[in-house]
Amino acid sequence: MNKINRRSFIKTTTAVAATSTMATFSPFAIGGATKKVVIVGGGIGGVTAAKYIKMLDSKVDVTVIEPNKNYYTCFMSNEVLSGHRSIDSIRFGYDGLKKRGVNIVHDAVNAIDAKGQVVKTAGGKSFAYDRCIVSPGIDFKWDTIGGYDANVAESIPHAYKAGPQTVTLRKQLESMKDGGVFLMCPPPNPFRCPPGPYERASQIASYFKAKKPKSKILILDPKDKFSKFGLFMDGWKRHYGYGTDNSIIKWVKGAEGGKIESVDPKTKTVQGEMDPFKADVINIIPAQKAGKIAFVAGLTNDKGWCPIEGKTFESKKHKNIHVIGDSAVASPMPKSGYAANSQAKVCAAAVVALLNGGKTPHPSYVNTCYSVIAPGDGISVAMVYDYKDGKIVKVKGSGGLTGKYDKKTRAREEQYAHSWFNNITNDIFG
Ligand SMILES: Cc1cc2nc3c(=O)[nH]c(=O)nc-3n(C[C@H](O)[C@H](O)[C@H](O)COP(=O)(O)OP(=O)(O)OC[C@H]3O[C@@H](n4cnc5c(N)ncnc54)[C@H](O)[C@@H]3O)c2cc1C
Repeated sequence: MNKINRRSFIKTTTAVAATSTMATFSPFAIGGATKKVVIVGGGIGGVTAAKYIKMLDSKVDVTVIEPNKNYYTCFMSNEVLSGHRSIDSIRFGYDGLKKRGVNIVHDAVNAIDAKGQVVKTAGGKSFAYDRCIVSPGIDFKWDTIGGYDANVAESIPHAYKAGPQTVTLRKQLESMKDGGVFLMCPPPNPFRCPPGPYERASQIASYFKAKKPKSKILILDPKDKFSKFGLFMDGWKRHYGYGTDNSIIKWVKGAEGGKIESVDPKTKTVQGEMDPFKADVINIIPAQKAGKIAFVAGLTNDKGWCPIEGKTFESKKHKNIHVIGDSAVASPMPKSGYAANSQAKVCAAAVVALLNGGKTPHPSYVNTCYSVIAPGDGISVAMVYDYKDGKIVKVKGSGGLTGKYDKKTRAREEQYAHSWFNNITNDIFG
C-alpha cells in the first residue's frame, strides 16, 4: 500500500511547478500489486517520464530500455560544432535514474506486443507492463535524397542525433581550409527542433568569422521560411554581413531552387534544382519520421508520426501505450526537448493516476526554444499550452518572441539559454 501524503504531494507539485510544467494534480488512492511501467528510449522524454513517475509514486516498478550508456543532448550540440563547448559538456548518464530506483536496461526494443502488454528486446528479453511509454525520438527518411543513407551519413554527417556525428562534423570543419565552403541542407517540415539548422548556421558562421574569415556557408533549403525567421535574418545581417557580397551566409529558399535531390559522396557534390554544387564540408539533414520502433509497434499514422490523446499521451492506435516527444503528434507544440520534457511530466502524472484508478489531472504544457546567433546575442520563442475540447491549444497572450535588438537584453537571452540548458539537464538526469 502506498499513499501520496500531503507532504509528498506538495513536494511533487512544487518540483513540477519549478520546472514550469503546470499540471494540476489531485490526490488519489493508491493500492494493489506492484504496477509496471516500461519506457522505450532513454532520451529526453523517456528519462523525464521515468524520474517523474518515481517521484509521484515510488512503488511503481519503472524500467527504461535504452541501447546507449551515454546520452548526448542535441541541445547545445551546435555550440560543440562552433567550438564554443566540448562534447563532454553535453554527455549525460543514467546514474540519477538508478539512484531513484529505476531499472536501466541497455538493449534495443525490437517489438511491442500491445495485446499481451509485453516489450521485447533485440537481446532476447521480455518485459511485461501495465503501461508502456514510448519516446524513441526521430528516424530519417533515407529514401528522399539519392545517394544519401545511414552509411554515407558516417562521412557526410547529419549530426541531428548528437554524439559521434557531432564530433565528426566538428573535425571536418576544423580541418577545412580557410576559404572553403560549408554546405548545409535542412529538412522539410515537420522536423525536430525547427530553429536547429539555422542556429547551427549561425554558430558555424561565428566560428568562421573568428577563425576562417574567408570561408562561406551555403544553405540549400527546401522551405521558403523557417522558425524565428525575422530574428535570424536580422542577426545574420548584424554579425555576418547577410545580404551583402561579403556575407558569410547565403540562404537559398525552396522557391529559388533550394531543394536538393541527390548527393555524390565521392566528389562531395549535391544535385538539385540548381546547378550541381561542390562543397568542402557537407551537412545533410534528411526529412524525418517517428523512431523506427513506433512503426514496428503499429503506433504511426500514414504521415509517419504517432497520434496521441493530448491529456494522457495515450496512443490512439493501442491502449496502455503512451507516446511522447518527437515521435508524437502534439501540434501545436514543436518537436523540441523542452516540449518532450513537458509532455513527459503530463504523461507521468496521467500514468500514475491511471495505474491507481484515479482521475487524470488537467494538464498544462510549456516550451521555450533558445538560439544563440553569435556570442552575446541570444533569441527565443516561448509558449504555454492548455488542453481544451480534446486538443492541445496555445494559451493566448502567453510566451512570444524576442523583441527588437537591444544589446543588454540579447546578452541576457544568451545567459538564459545556457542556464536553461543547466536547469533542464539537471531536471532530467539529476
Ligand atoms: C541541433 C539540435 C539542437 C536542438 N536544440 C534544442 C533546444 O535548444 N531546445 C530544445 O528544447 N530542443 C532542442 N532540440 C530538440 C531535442 O533534442 C529533441 O526534441 C528531443 O531530444 C526529443 O526527445 P525524445 O525523447 O523524443 O527523443 P530523444 O531525446 O532523441 O531520445 C530518444 C531515445 O530513444 C532511444 N531509442 C530509439 N529507438 C529505440 C529502441 N528501439 N529501443 C530502445 N531505445 C530506443 C534512442 O537511443 C534515444 O536515446 C535540438 C535538436 C537538434 C538536433
